[in-house]
Amino acid sequence: MTAPDALILGGGVIGLTTAYYLARAGVRVQLLDQGDFGQEASWAGAGILPPGNPRCARTPFDRLRAHSVAMFPQLSDDLKELTGIDNGYLRSGGLEFVGPDAAHAVEEWGGEGIEVQHLTASDLHQREPLLAADLGAAVFLPEMAQVRNPWHLRALIEGCKRLGVQLRPGEAAQALVRDGPRVRAVRTAAGDIAAATFVVAAGAWSDQLLATIGCRLGVRPVRGQIVLLHPDKPMLRHILLWGARYLVPRGDGRVLAGSTEEDAGFDKRTTAIGVQGLLELAIELVPALAQVAVERSWAGLRPGSPDGLPYIGVVPGIDNLFVAAGHFRAGIQLSPGTALLLKELILKEPPGTAAGAFRLDRETGHR
Ligand SMILES: Cc1cc2nc3c(=O)[nH]c(=O)nc-3n(C[C@H](O)[C@H](O)[C@H](O)COP(=O)(O)OP(=O)(O)OC[C@H]3O[C@@H](n4cnc5c(N)ncnc54)[C@H](O)[C@@H]3O)c2cc1C
Repeated sequence: MTAPDALILGGGVIGLTTAYYLARAGVRVQLLDQGDFGQEASWAGAGILPPGNPRCARTPFDRLRAHSVAMFPQLSDDLKELTGIDNGYLRSGGLEFVGPDAAHAVEEWGGEGIEVQHLTASDLHQREPLLAADLGAAVFLPEMAQVRNPWHLRALIEGCKRLGVQLRPGEAAQALVRDGPRVRAVRTAAGDIAAATFVVAAGAWSDQLLATIGCRLGVRPVRGQIVLLHPDKPMLRHILLWGARYLVPRGDGRVLAGSTEEDAGFDKRTTAIGVQGLLELAIELVPALAQVAVERSWAGLRPGSPDGLPYIGVVPGIDNLFVAAGHFRAGIQLSPGTALLLKELILKEPPGTAAGAFRLDRETGHR
């Protein structure tokens, strides 16, 4: 195999989307995964895409998110045209329960240029008749969308293949081999692989790989559990947000109840208490879910970062090594924006989103 222009280490949503945008720009890309592509956090996630408005977003994170979710409809159409695979992108709208202060929530979302409506109790029950009574105030976010993670990943994998990306599943990157201010190769069990540019997109495992060149960002696994319910007929239409937890109705009527946030190392098992808490929430919000079949549960390892922001950029002192990791709870929604920004940085194009806040050498308090 000839050496690629870019070698991406890790084939979750971040690595796959980066490979897709680089390949579309004519870059010869290889993508390595220690397992199969798109089977870790990216598969496990709920696929919620909160609304954003690139013109009004206030913080760098919100700007990246807004820019990124605005790309999703076009990306979904392009993938469908290229591969024939529908990624399930759906603007289902969302209901956010906001406690006593609905006016504040309306101000917050509205201030970001996002369409939002304060709902009375009767509006709420008109929208979702099976909701419990007395859940408090809620706002309606009509632009909230979702994607079916496994379908989106399948579309990305197929899209990458069609664009000529060389996919190498079952090949773990063991170490980065440095030669002065550059990385020369990646060490694998089958030998070293050389490339002009390297991208670490290994999710929660990124620090393990970066440690081989003495770089430690503080990216760590944060376990999230999900329970999948399977009603006989659809019961909900909107995504329901309850603090950091939620219910997501899929187009086929299934309902995802998520998610926990746990420090459990690299242990991906679900637990009795985790599943119990999610089922309790589901029944509290929609009492009729108590009688519905539980199809399965699973857990994934979110790549957490010390300040909650992703790392997107070059490794200081190593010209040809880039990182895109630490997307925590937002890796699906941030994936198109991250991939595009990375492509721009690698190809030395003017970035469409300010990259400063995501630099690897920012102050995070992590040592
Ligand atoms: C329960 C749950 C719910 C979530 N819900 C949402 C949501 O609603 N919306 C949203 O935007 N985000 C959500 N997220 C977060 C989102 O899923 C993650 O931020 C995102 O998937 C991270 O993508 P990634 O590509 O960085 O990591 P991953 O998907 O974990 O991919 C990393 C890949 O790197 C590979 N790898 C690791 N080490 C090596 C190595 N040494 N060599 C080769 N390959 C390697 C792994 O095998 C893996 O395939 C959720 C996450 C979880 C767990």
